Amino acid sequence: MVLDTILVRVVFPVTGVGLALLAEARGWGLFNLAALPNWIAVAASVVLLDLAIYLQHVLFHAVPALWRLHRMHHADLAFDVSTGLRFHPVEILLSMLIKLTVIAALGAPALSVLIFEVMLNATSMFSHGNIRIPERFDRVLRWLVVTPDMHRVHHSILPRETNSNVGFNLPWWDRLFGTYRPKPAAGHEAMTIGIEQFRDWRELRLDRMLLQPFREDVGPYPMGRWDGEK
Ligand SMILES: [Zn+2]
Ligand SMILES: [Zn+2]
Repeated sequence: MVLDTILVRVVFPVTGVGLALLAEARGWGLFNLAALPNWIAVAASVVLLDLAIYLQHVLFHAVPALWRLHRMHHADLAFDVSTGLRFHPVEILLSMLIKLTVIAALGAPALSVLIFEVMLNATSMFSHGNIRIPERFDRVLRWLVVTPDMHRVHHSILPRETNSNVGFNLPWWDRLFGTYRPKPAAGHEAMTIGIEQFRDWRELRLDRMLLQPFREDVGPYPMGRWDGEK
């Protein structure tokens, strides 16, 4: 996370909020062209930014070369808050590029970008939390936000489970686009966390994680590759 943060600061001349302010001043993007009430532009931008992150996450699961980068997040053998902070630096740079493009294209108000960033950081830590939420409460809560029980399915070793529950924050996209899976087949206690490659704890060393995209084959994980059995 430290490495990712430093890299983004060094590589990009602006932050998301900075670019939103610039777009507003220059009249770039959809919401800066359309004369909508501000609160509608803010609310719509927050939801659309979240949709963009969902679609980007699907992309990283679908394209084999991108999966090689993203699988570092899935190589964690445990599932806790620290999992939510592990992303390959190249993935982070690509996501930042995509996010900035979406912000400029939407003409997202700066306030919406700020709300979105705070919300995504908080919910990403929550959805990776190693916590138990009573099932009845979870069933209601997962209509509002992605819960740990929901996202844990996404960290299963089974490709068909890895490729479900792709949302990080708002839980509706998975239901809308058919990637929702209520629970892991083996149950939360017995399910195996991680991916088939990199099962050794030594793989969780920083230097090894950074090299993971270039090692081992891509396996059965990219969307559309797995057979019915897996
Ligand atoms: Zn993923
Ligand atoms: Zn995750």
